[in-house]
Amino acid sequence: METIKVYTLADLKVWDFPGTALAVIGQPIKHSLSPIMQNAAIKCLAQEDKQFEKWAYFRFEIDPEDLPEALELFHQKRFLGLNLTVPHKVIALDLLGEITCSAKAIGAVNTLKWSDSGFEGFNTDGYGLSKGIEEGLGINLKENSVLILGAGGAARAAVVECLNQQAESIRILNRSKDRLDAMLSNLSNLEGFESIIPVQVKEDLADLPKTGICINATSLGLKPNDPLPLNINVLSTEWSVYDMVYNPQETRLFIEAQKHGCAVKTGLSMLVHQGAKALEIWTGKEVDPQIMYNLVKQALDNQGNR
Ligand code: NDP
Repeated sequence: METIKVYTLADLKVWDFPGTALAVIGQPIKHSLSPIMQNAAIKCLAQEDKQFEKWAYFRFEIDPEDLPEALELFHQKRFLGLNLTVPHKVIALDLLGEITCSAKAIGAVNTLKWSDSGFEGFNTDGYGLSKGIEEGLGINLKENSVLILGAGGAARAAVVECLNQQAESIRILNRSKDRLDAMLSNLSNLEGFESIIPVQVKEDLADLPKTGICINATSLGLKPNDPLPLNINVLSTEWSVYDMVYNPQETRLFIEAQKHGCAVKTGLSMLVHQGAKALEIWTGKEVDPQIMYNLVKQALDNQGNR
């Protein structure tokens, strides 16, 4: 069966792949890079262990309304693992048997693993973020001041990871106050919550520390004419900037932060590490993220997105 094709709920109903199937599900899903990087990693595992020759990673376009039916079918058809992307990460929570504590705290799942009783839910975005920052910028969240832009699913994963890694302080700025308040009330039981400083008005950014890590977890940057998520002049040049958006590879924030003199990376390393962790959960094997990185980088370069 082809791993490039976009499969649907109708295909799932008659699914008869004889090997071990994995998949990413979302809407839209056509542009997902996960099948390229996961199938490359599986191919590498197969060189060491022949059981992985029968493994393949597919993509499915699933409407959110069909998610309950789809998850039941994925389970019946014995898909070993699923990745969930927009818009399924939050709505899947109520459909799962077991959820890890950190996914519960985040309020979203991006990785599911088959078990007899249903799918177990994980969230590997926070892990991907801290590994991506470590690798891309050579710094750690631990004991650093962090400014997070956004209050959606990705921002929540970032906040929980910063709390787990004991960041020195966590400032959060979001366009809509309601969403920021809702996020804060959901996270209020977590250890370290007092290190969170909501930024209600942009003037609050005047007293930022001299160094820190700014993480863009808004969707601004995906489209060429998007405004900047932050006036870059509020950061001293000793700040580092990590933009979760990775397509285009050089977002407007990336370009402006670089001009300003900050160290800056876009989110490809996060994508790769969250994917590598998911594959590790399914296979129990360590996978080489570099091979996955090289392939997705090549795919983006081929699209002409720098
Ligand atoms: P959500 O839709 O859950 O959240 C979107 C966020 O962007 C909200 O905080 C929203 O603010 C903000 N936003 C959207 N439009 C604007 C605007 N015009 N001005 C200001 N703020 C805006 O998305 P996710 O959290 O799932 O994803 C966020 C980004 O992170 C996406 O670009 C996604 O591609 C990226 N991502 C990257 C990953 C990686 O591996 N590199 C992994 C996961 C996500 P408001 O609340 O006011 O609407």
